[in-house]
Amino acid sequence: MGRIGETTLEIDLSALEHNFDHFKSRLDPQTKFLAVVKAFAYGSDMVSIAKKLEALKVDYFAVAYVREGVLLRDAGIKTPILVLHPQVINFGELIDRCLEPSLYSPRILRDFLQVAKEKAQHKYPVHLKFNTGLNRLGFWENDVNHILKVLDGRDELEIVSVFSHLAASEDENERAFSLQQIDTFKKISTALTQKLSHRPVRHMLNTSGIINYPEAQFEMVRSGIGLYGYGNHHEIDEILKPVATLKTVISQMHKIEPDESVGYNRAFKSDGHRITATLPIGHADGIGRQYGGDKTHVFVKGKRAPIIGNVCMDMIMIDVTDIDCEEGDEVVIFGGNHSAEEFASSAHTISYEILTAISQRVKRLIIP
Ligand SMILES: *Cc1c(COP(=O)(O)O)cnc(C)c1O
Repeated sequence: MGRIGETTLEIDLSALEHNFDHFKSRLDPQTKFLAVVKAFAYGSDMVSIAKKLEALKVDYFAVAYVREGVLLRDAGIKTPILVLHPQVINFGELIDRCLEPSLYSPRILRDFLQVAKEKAQHKYPVHLKFNTGLNRLGFWENDVNHILKVLDGRDELEIVSVFSHLAASEDENERAFSLQQIDTFKKISTALTQKLSHRPVRHMLNTSGIINYPEAQFEMVRSGIGLYGYGNHHEIDEILKPVATLKTVISQMHKIEPDESVGYNRAFKSDGHRITATLPIGHADGIGRQYGGDKTHVFVKGKRAPIIGNVCMDMIMIDVTDIDCEEGDEVVIFGGNHSAEEFASSAHTISYEILTAISQRVKRLIIP
């Protein structure tokens, strides 16, 4: 491949297919697969990721907000789209764009029913979200009767799925809690479906759930991070392929004398003769200030180079004293063999955060 020439996030669609196939192979053949493409497909490129997954016959998409679903519809995506966290103000647009809401509280149910009625809907597909311990979003177990009462004798809405979300699916120390959540979810969905004339799809597992609780796959699973190549699990990470690789180039190199400093606030003070490289990427591109100060590495010619001093808005400086490199050379921030999980952990955070932080200013290069 030619030189990238500027900061670029490469999106490898064959890696996406590999990860999708891997998770499908862990599931029963009839289990439906919902791909979570919220937050620009975890900071990559929502439209190209969704188009690829649609071609691979994924069953469902999920986004967090209505705006994200609208972007997918504008791009011609036809697959059903679940909106996990819709707001009342967007209900009209949600219906106009054939997006399917997660209904998560008595208020949201009442307000959505009202809009569906005004828009003369008949069996509009909706999803009921139950809280089983995450205590973030969702109806409570004892809301079941209320929901049934509100919907009794009306036909504006059809409950197409019932779901919940695990609080600690990646944490083996919380196994008992997760099993308890699964149990509560079974009770709730049974209580609900007994009173309905049809059987909604049930789903509970995110990526780590698929890995650790395959017995709870029900009729569908919801995977995000795993599709992008990270499984919160060492052995699985060996199998998965990172979809996104963040690369940049060396803009300029400097020889630094002993006692000189580098960057704002003189945060790096040299203890000897050093060679530094300045890179065209900064906190406005998603590399936050927590990655400065000599604790995070990037890769030049396959060798580790620490980010030194303070991260600037548009630039970072790295120490390349022991690396044979020159201006214009490529630098890998993360991706490929250099996991975003490891990059993130140097600043005590997780792959999800660094992936979704890469700002829209960074060029995306789609590799088919
Ligand atoms: C984001 C999200 C997911 C995806 O989780 P991963 O750990 O990325 O697989 C699944 N379900 C819900 C409700 C979510 O908000």
